[in-house]
Amino acid sequence: MGEGREATGGGGAAAASASDLLEALVDAGHLIPTGTPGLYGRGAAFDALLDRLEALFDRLTADDRAERLRFPPAIGRALFERSGYLDSFPHLAGTVHAFDGDERGHRELLAALRAGRDWTGRQAPTGLVLTPAACYPVYPIFAARGPLPATGGIADVASWCFRHEPSTEPTRLQLFRMREQVRLGRPEQVLDFRQRWIERARQLVDMLDLPARLELAHDPFFGRGGQIMAASQRDQRLKFELVVPIADPQRPTACMSFNYHQDHFARSFGIRDFEGAPAHTACVGFGVERLAMALLRHHGLDPTCWPARIRAALEGASP
Ligand code: AMP
Ligand code: ZN
Repeated sequence: MGEGREATGGGGAAAASASDLLEALVDAGHLIPTGTPGLYGRGAAFDALLDRLEALFDRLTADDRAERLRFPPAIGRALFERSGYLDSFPHLAGTVHAFDGDERGHRELLAALRAGRDWTGRQAPTGLVLTPAACYPVYPIFAARGPLPATGGIADVASWCFRHEPSTEPTRLQLFRMREQVRLGRPEQVLDFRQRWIERARQLVDMLDLPARLELAHDPFFGRGGQIMAASQRDQRLKFELVVPIADPQRPTACMSFNYHQDHFARSFGIRDFEGAPAHTACVGFGVERLAMALLRHHGLDPTCWPARIRAALEGASP
């Protein structure tokens, strides 16, 4: 991965700032503004690029025999509570609410709406939480199956994910697609998986000719206690990120993450290894839109004009 490579990408969208990049992506028809920050429609070429990146992920992982699992983009409240998300990221969670009043309540709601007042008072929790990371639904499923086989488990997941971090920075979306593999097993199996993925990421950025760097990282834990959690996560080398300069050349954006959870999820959900001890887990994921934006930023806004080698990598043809 590109130590010392310049991140300005010759034919790329010459965006000097986040707002320039957003404007360029909108002008090219890739992102369609909706009036809400971090919430965009996708044009045909951008959508096709997202699909090609997922297909590339399929090809890269074809030999892993991961169990493919797909879920709607919401999780139930019980799963959400068990995951520990509220301890770490209360500020990012999005809960789904719905009207639960009677006819009088409905009249009050409409009166408030028409008067331009807040009408949300009668919205009650539905018990659904928007999925914050694609891997969450996997843990209770593996827990319910009983002890893992000696070879452990590996799942392939993809989901729309929600994080409440409204921003005009085009790579910071409120709703985005995340593709992940989750490994469950003994600590050495899980760490080996993460290491192999770090190698694979090098292969991926080589194929796509992106100026990427691997960094030790930490999650955006909430509050002052969160700083301690972040420091401990770094000290234990639990999270690495593959970063690529996209909107801001000085502050590259995380496009992939490589996370070792130790036995955190296994203890919360009761996942056992083949000897009955709490399993360990890791997940590796990429933000599909971020990788797509990295390509558009570095190779130009029109994917049909990209170098043949990159187009071939995305189309699955031999270069
Ligand atoms: P994380 O669970 O925070 O490590 O996120 C996994 C991957 O999702 C990251 O490496 C990013 O590529 C992507 N991602 C995270 N947050 C966002 C966001 N707000 N908008 C778009 N992609 C995101
Ligand atoms: Zn995950």
